[in-house]
Amino acid sequence: MKTHSLEQLRNKLNIINHNLLELLSDRARIVQEIGDVKEKQGTPKFDPVREKEMLAKLVAANKGPFDDKTIQYLFKQIFQASLNLQESEHKKHLLVSRKKQKEDTIVHIGDVAVGGPKPLMIAGPCSVESYEQVRLVAKALKEAGIPVMRGGAFKPRTSPYDFQGLGFEGLKILKEAADEFGLKTISEIVDPRHIELASEYIDVIQIGARNMQNFELLKAAGEAQIPILLKRGLAATIDEFLHAAEYIVSRGNTQVMLIERGIRTYEKATRNTLDISAVPILKQESHLPVLVDVTHSTGRKDILAPCAKAALAAGADGIMVEVHPDPATALSDAAQQLNIDEFNLFYASVKESGLL
Ligand code: PEP
Ligand code: MN
Repeated sequence: MKTHSLEQLRNKLNIINHNLLELLSDRARIVQEIGDVKEKQGTPKFDPVREKEMLAKLVAANKGPFDDKTIQYLFKQIFQASLNLQESEHKKHLLVSRKKQKEDTIVHIGDVAVGGPKPLMIAGPCSVESYEQVRLVAKALKEAGIPVMRGGAFKPRTSPYDFQGLGFEGLKILKEAADEFGLKTISEIVDPRHIELASEYIDVIQIGARNMQNFELLKAAGEAQIPILLKRGLAATIDEFLHAAEYIVSRGNTQVMLIERGIRTYEKATRNTLDISAVPILKQESHLPVLVDVTHSTGRKDILAPCAKAALAAGADGIMVEVHPDPATALSDAAQQLNIDEFNLFYASVKESGLL
């Protein structure tokens, strides 16, 4: 065999490296095309049977000097890198992502715009308990200039022995009280079959934290034509939260608002841990409006105002807070709801910051 100088050998390696790079890039482009075809077909990206076949063919063709194990290892790395490429392509295409849509989505609750320049305050009782109870809150909200009222009628409670809500009767009460004062309403729906009928009584459907990954409910919400307020799950990552929103948007309903409501951590000083960092991250990653529920995230009346200000300073498009005319007698979340005077003080304090 003719001997080469070190320099000649190195030059040869450089050329081979270059060729390998070109071949790997060509291979990657074909993998991307395969990813697009699979995307359209809805078939999974990872195909272990096909991967095993390719490895077996490569081992059979291997003439050395690398042993079979090394060849398998090297090609597995290439396969994994290709799969990562398909996954990141897919992520880039999430409909809820900023990469897909640069401009902020504005959600319209009647004539109330959420996600625009003016942040929104949403308030109301944890549960709808009676007409008189809701009417007192509606009147206070009207006087304060707050256009959207919340109130739960289907309550997902930890214990089956706790108050479960008034159901459709509660939605009717909410609507009656809201109509009297010209307010819009938000209420949680837990059963996909209830969405259509509920839309006749309320203006926004809330999907609660416990149902953030109830995929049938998300699909039904995606097929409805009513704004959706999607709460972050009790232990959901931001990525899971965005994928839950994607379920709704991918079915055609683009009127989706995200709401951070605290996540489970080891901390006991608050009911949940308010993840303020989720606000700027969600605003960066997604074009959907982002709100913060200060009541369920903290479970503490004494820190609602600073938490609401922090949320707005971090870029939140709105705040949600629970208000009850007589919290001590409330049928759910009695400890954390503000009475009407406390609410007025809270609202004044947040407004005073200039953030609302
Ligand atoms: C609610 O807002 O009424 C509620 C039950 O909140 P979460 O789903 O965030 O616990
Ligand atoms: Mn509550």
